[in-house]
Order: sequence, then structure tokens, then C-alpha cells
Amino acid sequence: MKRSIERGSRPDAGSSFSFDIPSAAARDFSSDTVTQPDAAMRRAMAGAVVGDDVQRTDPTVLELENRAAALLYMEAALFVTSGTMGNQLALIAASEPGCEVILPDSCHIVIHEAAASARLAQVQLRTMAAPLGVPDPDVVESLIRLTPEDIHSPRTAVVTYENPTSDGALVAPSLMEDLARLAGRHRIHVHVDGARIFHAAAALGTSAAELARHADSVTFCLSKGLGAPIGSMLCGSRNFIERARRARKWLGGGWRQAGVIAAAGLVALENRHEAGRDIERARRTAGELANIAGCEVLWERQTINMIFLRLPGGQDEVLMQELSARRLGHYPPERGLWRFVVHRDITDEALGDLVVAMAAALRQARR
Ligand SMILES: *Cc1c(COP(=O)(O)O)cnc(C)c1O
Repeated sequence: MKRSIERGSRPDAGSSFSFDIPSAAARDFSSDTVTQPDAAMRRAMAGAVVGDDVQRTDPTVLELENRAAALLYMEAALFVTSGTMGNQLALIAASEPGCEVILPDSCHIVIHEAAASARLAQVQLRTMAAPLGVPDPDVVESLIRLTPEDIHSPRTAVVTYENPTSDGALVAPSLMEDLARLAGRHRIHVHVDGARIFHAAAALGTSAAELARHADSVTFCLSKGLGAPIGSMLCGSRNFIERARRARKWLGGGWRQAGVIAAAGLVALENRHEAGRDIERARRTAGELANIAGCEVLWERQTINMIFLRLPGGQDEVLMQELSARRLGHYPPERGLWRFVVHRDITDEALGDLVVAMAAALRQARR
């Protein structure tokens, strides 16, 4: 598709309209989902060549799917509305209703998908305790059903885990390989929820393709740290993606001139090169925060573009006030655990103000 060369060159000549709309997320640490399309992305969207994606004639969607598959060295990819839809389509395409799926109990699929696995894929989730969400192959193996022909027994169809995990940990390629070998022995599909896979790759000093090598399917989000307004990719074999495409239709996810959004996704894929920079900014800021007496940074989780930390008892409320006073967006701590996400819209000024807010909160604590 040679069209990518022209993308963005068409619109607004002679009009007073500007694509330079400042991001409202410049001071919002709550999540990387808040990132907003920048001028380059908005220009690409405005100039996108489109077709009907259900008929598979949208050239921009096709280009995005080809590009995503190529980046992960996988046969095919499917453009979907969300990571949740990608994960659910993976379970649907790799199992049958009544099958079992083995996964760490802290997974997005377990906690943040509104029980979609029960409602849509109709599978039984067999969760396991896993420190920071990193699966132990011995535990996985102990949970695999060995007698699927027994009429009492569910069949284990899928093992899935996250990389990076929701707890901020990484799964090393060697461990991924062990899990893949184990699953292969039992003919079980391996799905990796790589919502932030390019951040995992940057943090591990490898490529997303090297991580995807140990999976049968992978989802990743365009709409998080990569900056796209909407969208995720599900990648896998050609057959698998065709099954997922069919399921996407019956879920109501067949979309038409989706190239307008896919154009943003193509720009987002190029933004993957920024992952290392945001990881570095997060690590540097974590270091500055850790220097403030009372601020306990959880270094074992300091792997990607997120900072996890705890404050001494009773100080959460004070920090909340200090952040609000500086108009710094944040989620309240979850069971005492704070998470600050350093994404591409966060300015260096906001990072500095976060450190100042922390110092102010903990100074009050010492009084
Ligand atoms: C964000 C995320 C998803 C998908 O979220 P959507 O909001 O549905 O796009 C899936 N898995 C993990 C680990 C995530 O962080």
C-alpha cells in the first residue's frame, strides 16, 4: 500500500483549522489510556483513505493489520476496539464453551473484563496465585487437566498471562519459552496479553517479535502508551485470526470505515520507539521520589513506564490534596498502593511537580 506516503499531506491547506490541539493529559498520571492524539496523528486520521472493513476493502485497516503482524512476526492480525475485545476473541477462537483457561489471578481478564470470559467465551477460568502476576511453569503444569476424555473433566484449552503484568513485572523470554514448551507438550494454546508489549520489549532489551515467538496469540493496545485514541490488535496464525474475525462480527465489532482510526494506529506503531524514553523518565522520577523520606518506591515493580509506591499510614489523603492543588491527575491508591503512569503526553514539568507535591505531603507528615 503505497498510500502511506501521502497520508497526512492532504487536508487543511488554506483553512484556518489547526491540528495542534494541546493534550489535556499533560498532567494526568492516572493511566496511559488518557493519552490524546497529537497533531501528526490527527493529520493522518483526517487524510486516511478508507473502505468497508467488514468487506475487507479498507486499505488503511489492511495496512495496519499487515504492519502489526509483521512487527510481531506473526501470520495475521485483527484490528479490534479494545484490549478486552482482543483477549475475549482470543479465548473464543482458541477454546469452546466449557473449556478451561489457566491464568494468574491478577490478570486483566480475571479482574477488569466484567466477567466477559463467563459471558462471551463461556470458559471456566482456573486462576493461580502468581507473585506479581508472573506464572510459575510448575504451577501451570499442575493445573492442566490430564484426562479430558473423562466425562467429568473440563478440557484445558488455553494458558494465558500478561507481559508486562498488571503488577508491573516482566516475563523474561526464557520463562516464556518454558511456558510455551510446556503448553506445546499438552497441545494447549498460549495467549499473551501484551497490552504494553512494546514497553515490555524495551525494558527487556529485546523486540516484541522475540516475545511473541513464544505465544500462539498476542494482544496489544494502540490506545495506551502508543497514543492512539482507540484500538487494539490481536495477532496470531491465519486460521486463528479468521476464527477471531468471525467472532468479532457476532460480538458487533465489525466496523466499516475504520481506516479513520487505523490511520492513528499506524502512527501509534511508530511511537513504539518512545517506550524506552518513557521508561527512563519513570525510573528517574521514581529515584527522585524515593529520595523523599517516607516515600517507599516498590523497586521490584519498577520495570516499565509506571511508578508504584506506598506512603506511611494516613498520608494518602494529604498527598491526594497536594496533587489536586497542583492539578495533577491521578487515581486514588488501591489498598495503599499508588500507581503513577508516565506516558507520552506527560510533560517534564508535570514530573517535577509530582516530586514537589510528594515532598510537600511528606513534609506535613513529619510535622
Ligand atoms: C489495558 C489492558 C487491557 C485492555 O484494556 P481495554 O481498556 O479493554 O483496551 C488488557 N490487559 C491489560 C494487562 C491491560 O493493561
